[in-house]
Amino acid sequence: MTASEPAPPTPTTPTATDADAATLFAELTGREPDGVWSAPGRANLIGEHTDYNEGFVLPFAIPFRTVAAVGVRDDARIRVASTFAEDAVEVALDDLDDLFPTPAGTSPRVPEWAAYPLGVAWALRQAGASGPGVDIAIASDVPVGAGLSSSAAIEGAAASALNDLWSAGLDRVALARIGRRAENEAVGAPTGIMDQMASMLGEPDAAIFLDCRTLDAALVPVGVAEAGLAILVMDTRVKHAHSTGGYRERRASCEKGAEIMGVPSLRDVSVDDLPRAAELMDDVTFRRVRHIVTENQRVLDTVRVLREDGARAIGDLLVASHASMRDDFEISVPELDTAVDAALAAGALGARMTGGGFGGAAIALIEQDAVKSVSDAVAAAFAASGFEAPAVFTVTPAAGAHRDV
Ligand code: ADP
Ligand code: MG
Repeated sequence: MTASEPAPPTPTTPTATDADAATLFAELTGREPDGVWSAPGRANLIGEHTDYNEGFVLPFAIPFRTVAAVGVRDDARIRVASTFAEDAVEVALDDLDDLFPTPAGTSPRVPEWAAYPLGVAWALRQAGASGPGVDIAIASDVPVGAGLSSSAAIEGAAASALNDLWSAGLDRVALARIGRRAENEAVGAPTGIMDQMASMLGEPDAAIFLDCRTLDAALVPVGVAEAGLAILVMDTRVKHAHSTGGYRERRASCEKGAEIMGVPSLRDVSVDDLPRAAELMDDVTFRRVRHIVTENQRVLDTVRVLREDGARAIGDLLVASHASMRDDFEISVPELDTAVDAALAAGALGARMTGGGFGGAAIALIEQDAVKSVSDAVAAAFAASGFEAPAVFTVTPAAGAHRDV
């Protein structure tokens, strides 16, 4: 499959989250929605911080979804509500252009959560779409701020709904770009395109091998269950925030490294170039560069190994990826290291933090019959370190954004 040939939507039976969104919609408007759309969160199998360096990533959609129950209005206003927030936020569609983009370094002029769906509406209008006012009621079972991309899920659900209701006719890749624009320019979080692409393009039992320079996407069967394995998510419950601090600094280091190497982005630096990079730059910048360059190679290696030898053979690549994020890119935290180390000590084939870092979740590739023993070992290690108990659960690669009802 190429990214420009989206797979047909997957029909689903309505879920509890669909019902929650529909209930919220009824409370808000006193009527039924015109439709219900949803988009999943994602986990990243491998390829971290490589997306904004125009490199490679291998995420998959997870079976937790954000749902938008949406109905058109007879005026030109947009109202968004979420089970996650106390109050609905309502603005005139024409006023979206005054609200966004959010000036760099400032907070959105609406409550931050509302900048995601309103930013999607703004970005769609910027892309030439138009349509009537809408009411949007949002519910979700994606853990928020856990590195599982509840942000791409809310963007994907809103973008899918408005694309249909406004007859915008955008394909999934274009909708991923809309979501990213909302996140970058309306919310002000300088994130890459990986999350939105995973949320839009996910398919059951497949990871998405994405070239973030060309946006070419290929589905790679993961074959986890087939290999007798499971993927465990260990949510440390340490919340991260991408719009501030470390994430921005890492981006700046990568840009500096690319400039010193005289290339448009670190995508253009190979493992063979690293000795030269070490001579040209300070130690911190070099270690940031080395993470990106070796991580790109690990994504390519993981895709090859998955195709040739199956899921059982990728454990060492996951472990090497975590070490690179911990030691070179320095985006791990003690809770993530504890989760990874405890899972490996309890027999996981591989484990690594997933997502942008500074908190959030780690994943482990484990034997199917080891779910309980590894989960218990991770919980015990957290207790021994005095950390808040983690949330530990299994995930299987799931379908991307679609209309539910
Ligand atoms: P992550 O994507 O890892 O969950 P982010 O910080 O990127 O973390 O995005 C989380 C933010 O997205 C939340 O703080 C909130 O502003 C917004 N968000 C996510 N899901 C919802 C939801 N269901 N309702 C309202 N806002 C949401
Ligand atoms: Mg996010």
